[in-house]
Amino acid sequence: MDLSHILNHLGEEDKSKYFNSVTPPLFDTTNFCFDSVAQMRSCLSNEKETPFYTRGCNPTVQILRKKIAALEKADDCLVFASGSASIAAAVLGNIQQNEHIICVENPYSWTKKLCNNFLTKFGVETTYVDGKELVNFEKAIQENTKIIYLESPNSVTFEQQDLAKIAELAKANNIITICDNSYATPLFQNPIEMGIDIVVHSASKYFGGHSDIVAGILCGNQEMINRLFNEQFMTMGGIISPHNAWLMIRSLRTFEIRLNQVSDNTKIIVEYLKKHPKVLKMYYPFDEENEQFELSKKQMKKGTGQFSIQLKTESLKDVEAFCDALNYFLLACSWGGHESLIFPVSALTSSGNYRENPFPINLIRFYVGLENPKLLINDLENAFSKF
Ligand SMILES: *Cc1c(COP(=O)(O)O)cnc(C)c1O
Repeated sequence: MDLSHILNHLGEEDKSKYFNSVTPPLFDTTNFCFDSVAQMRSCLSNEKETPFYTRGCNPTVQILRKKIAALEKADDCLVFASGSASIAAAVLGNIQQNEHIICVENPYSWTKKLCNNFLTKFGVETTYVDGKELVNFEKAIQENTKIIYLESPNSVTFEQQDLAKIAELAKANNIITICDNSYATPLFQNPIEMGIDIVVHSASKYFGGHSDIVAGILCGNQEMINRLFNEQFMTMGGIISPHNAWLMIRSLRTFEIRLNQVSDNTKIIVEYLKKHPKVLKMYYPFDEENEQFELSKKQMKKGTGQFSIQLKTESLKDVEAFCDALNYFLLACSWGGHESLIFPVSALTSSGNYRENPFPINLIRFYVGLENPKLLINDLENAFSKF
């Protein structure tokens, strides 16, 4: 299906339902009423697709669902209140007591906590593997392994997993594969086409794109989505609000434009930083010197806006002087919006023991937004003069 059709028209064909309004309306309502008991009964029989109660179905959210499923080349999708809610639903919906998960090393921090602090209460064990080598997944498979959890590229250091090969291995062993595709977005990577069963996203990042929506996405085949709707989705009830769904439809109009711009800007900033004498190491999947550059080209169309660098210093003071001097790169978590950001991992170390920090203290995660790269380079140039 044509991308511009999906972003601008899909799901909005029947405008006569809302006075031929050009933009879809925001249905800010909890419930929908009926003319007869018979009508009410018939709607209740298909709560996922019929407006009855907004936790199950809301017309604004329906438009969004159609677009997202088409983008991920999935049969169907569900939209949640956050990326973490969609990840929890995908995992909990496919695991039973005392079963086993194989998870890529260093996934998103709250995904790791789901496995380490929550699922352990039910006897579910997780083995973390270096996802760069297929053999590590093979070796970790047990009799009771039910899920292989992937994040490609993964958080902070952006290692990738060969999605097609892992999907094949998982299918041969009756294991469900879940892939967090937040980094690449469906514009640049389609895990379902490579055989992955479930794709999850933090829609708080590129889908929202303006740092004003927290939301999550879960895509899969029809059988999977129907089951998860009736189990995790309706039971836990972590749904997106109609208002946030409406904002996200608006964000999707510029999805392709934003992502292409972010990708181009990032390339310029990465090239600049790679040549800088005060940069020790670059972590970017589309850097030609990246050890997985061939895999990047094989399974992703382009790089997006996140990368990390290690500064050429061992001093925390230098790292802080550099970060504090930046004006356009805001010091903040998250990413995927209009604004450029940095997240020095040393901020995790100094904030106490509540989170382990497996990364070197001179590592800084960057996100490049929509500012003119010249402004950003001037900003960096000034910050480099501080140590
Ligand atoms: C932010 C993020 C999440 C969590 O999403 P929320 O919307 O913040 O709950 C999950 N995975 C990745 C890769 C993320 O960056």
